[in-house]
Amino acid sequence: MASNGYDVIIVGGGMGGLNLAALLSKEGRRVLVLEKGGRESLGGRAASGKVGSSAVDNGIKGLILAGTQDEVFRRIGKKLPENVCRWTNSGQVHMNGEWRKLDEIVRGSIGEFAKVYMNTTSEWSYDEIEGINDVSIEEFVTQRTDDQGVIDFFRYLGWLFGGTLSMPLDYSAGSLFYSVKKQFDTLGRYPSQSYWVKGGSGAIAGPLVEATEENGGEIRTSCSVSRVVIERGTVRGVDVEVGSRRVPTELVDTERIEAPVVVSAVAIWDIFNILSEDDLSPWYADRLRHLHRKTLNLATLTYGHTDRELWDFSGPRWTQEGPVSGRPWCASDLEYGEDESEYQVTFWMQLGWWDKPNVFEMREASHKAALERLFDDFEGDVRALFPGIVEDSKWRLRSFGPATIMETPGYVGSSLVDIEAQGVDGLYLIGERTRAAKVMGVYGAAQVALAAAERILAR
Ligand SMILES: Cc1cc2nc3c(=O)[nH]c(=O)nc-3n(C[C@H](O)[C@H](O)[C@H](O)COP(=O)(O)OP(=O)(O)OC[C@H]3O[C@@H](n4cnc5c(N)ncnc54)[C@H](O)[C@@H]3O)c2cc1C
Repeated sequence: MASNGYDVIIVGGGMGGLNLAALLSKEGRRVLVLEKGGRESLGGRAASGKVGSSAVDNGIKGLILAGTQDEVFRRIGKKLPENVCRWTNSGQVHMNGEWRKLDEIVRGSIGEFAKVYMNTTSEWSYDEIEGINDVSIEEFVTQRTDDQGVIDFFRYLGWLFGGTLSMPLDYSAGSLFYSVKKQFDTLGRYPSQSYWVKGGSGAIAGPLVEATEENGGEIRTSCSVSRVVIERGTVRGVDVEVGSRRVPTELVDTERIEAPVVVSAVAIWDIFNILSEDDLSPWYADRLRHLHRKTLNLATLTYGHTDRELWDFSGPRWTQEGPVSGRPWCASDLEYGEDESEYQVTFWMQLGWWDKPNVFEMREASHKAALERLFDDFEGDVRALFPGIVEDSKWRLRSFGPATIMETPGYVGSSLVDIEAQGVDGLYLIGERTRAAKVMGVYGAAQVALAAAERILAR
């Protein structure tokens, strides 16, 4: 049995795990991070790959809510990579067969718009905003105005925050306003600009790894945790797989590493790979299962270009109904390349749990075929609305995967699980959509890590 005197074991080297590791090791805790992927996969779903000289992301297209991640970097004494996003969110929307500027949709209704948007953000407290967690954006806005421009704007704003969701009915007003207020309070501006860092989203992981190791933390990669060890309601450590499989079905040996605190920083849908439902209280286990079913998948199409005539760089585009796919999606340009003459145009489409194919059924051939069709139709939309992009691209990348847990009324705030696992002393769960995350995505991972660090340091 190996103990080595670790104070905290963190399972998973994604943004949640790395943020927490950096924060705890800065405060002198002996931290061990265990990541099943190789060193290049530190950062998890936010890690970036490379095509030629360009960094490409696993679909991450905007690090929303700059604020919580900045806070972590401030505490660990590191600098965030440079923001290379040059446009604001005021792009164009394709509706009823034509492109319309988002600003123009709102301009005529600015008074009404300010009443709903600015007043809610600036005059409501966080508690009041959390009081509307279970109210949809659509419901919230239509109760306050019958101005169609304003209603339309919030519909697209729902898209901005929820991506391309066609259903503002399914997006929580509390969640939206919490994100906006948080950004306004921490950075002094409304989310008018996205935050894309030089080197891709994965560039945020580097300084977190560095800070952890500089402060005596340990990060083991290619190390898969097979289970969290819990005895009589108390965490004892983890079992990790040792050696590699000689045949795919081999049951490999495990080694136990002990620690009084174990943090699961794996995505919520992976939790039952390392924990038994019986270890948790029935309510808690049931709630986790439920969240799993609210997963939102993202399909992205990215094209690499050197011809700057192909994209007009006037900001992002939203499509209400793709001419071939019939689905809503967003598009924008990215300039990630070390080679300044190269840029990327990326298109992303969200698929809810109600949609097929479901990412969790992807091992079935029929679902793989459905996914191929989806991408072919998606590319058909791009060909129709942006001539030249598909035909003249230097490279193309298709990606599909679980992006987040949907911020649907009934699935935010107090209805979510706490980071301290009910029923087990010393076990923390920091996967997204735990109650402390408040906001989604990479900044949610930073926020939940800040909350977990506070609780663990207070033990
Ligand atoms: C296609 C796509 C687009 C996205 N777009 C955006 C965006 O625009 N903006 C935004 O803010 N967010 C976006 N997100 C969401 C963002 O990537 C995630 O919210 C965030 O990266 C989650 O971090 P995490 O640490 O909680 O989880 P993960 O990144 O999933 O990290 C979990 C880690 O645990 C490891 N692990 C799992 N099981 C084990 C085990 N048994 N043993 C050891 N290690 C294990 C995994 O390998 C992984 O590295 C997107 C995600 C996807 C997939």
